Amino acid sequence: MRAVLPAVVLGLGLGAAMLASAQAPTREANELGRVMILEYHKIDNPEGRWTRTPENFRRDLQRLWERGYRLVALNDYLDGKIALPAGTTPLILTFDDSSPGQFRYVQRGSDWVIDPECGLGILEAFAREHPGFGRAATFYVLPGANPPNRLFNQPELATRKLQYLASQGYEIGNHSLWHAELGRYSESVVREQLAGAQEWVQRHVPGYRFRSLALPMGSYPKELGWAVSGEAKGMRYKHDAILMVAGGAAPSPHARNFDPNRLPRIQAVERDLDHWITHFDRNPGDRYVSDGDASTITVATGSTGKLGAVRTARVIERR
Ligand SMILES: [Zn+2]
Repeated sequence: MRAVLPAVVLGLGLGAAMLASAQAPTREANELGRVMILEYHKIDNPEGRWTRTPENFRRDLQRLWERGYRLVALNDYLDGKIALPAGTTPLILTFDDSSPGQFRYVQRGSDWVIDPECGLGILEAFAREHPGFGRAATFYVLPGANPPNRLFNQPELATRKLQYLASQGYEIGNHSLWHAELGRYSESVVREQLAGAQEWVQRHVPGYRFRSLALPMGSYPKELGWAVSGEAKGMRYKHDAILMVAGGAAPSPHARNFDPNRLPRIQAVERDLDHWITHFDRNPGDRYVSDGDASTITVATGSTGKLGAVRTARVIERR
């Protein structure tokens, strides 16, 4: 019955979309597979080592969408709460350094609207045009950096932007006050950098607490504990995860080797993206694929030994 469908569809002239969906591969659930946490820097022209053009960013989303990747919030991944349809794969977006092209308002009449050519504008348009893709990202901002990296470089709109992100389900993360290479500093400076960033963000979004830290230049402080939690000048901070600047795909949050204090990321530049998208195309068994039921963790036959100790869901071993 299935086999004759494409011919029937073609006969009716209904086109390639239905043909493609009739032939779409069904991916086996594997919730111990790896997850890509993409790391973007500037969204701007021209393309460069630390810059993705608006056009290429849109193309990245399209490529990933077509392969069954769907956006999840970093914090949901950290909590092991990945609620996606069966057969799809979680994808996490992060943006470092709060450069202007990530989030820009432009004036339209008497109102400010999100620039459709900035990172957030492109992401939101893509989500509208592709229902089910999701809308999530974490922005690792620099509240105390020099322009143009201070909170997206429109000072009079900084509060509006941060409040927009917080209210719309995006996440704001710690990237230190002004991009301090933490490995080079004393304990008190490290703590002031981390608590200070949170204090500055709270001036714009009262009570907002970071849940994760992206290390500037991937530099760990001399003691891990300084980065995990602490206090400076009356402001407490606590990070449930620490993200590196490289390292490849990240483990499943259900996996035994999941280490939230050392989460690897993939730099979203042409070469690295290409490498990892191709890797998962060729090695589908390495990829996290949802079983469509958030209350169960489905794993491949014989791999329950790779599960971490903390389990909030029922484990199903695939047969
Ligand atoms: Zn950075």
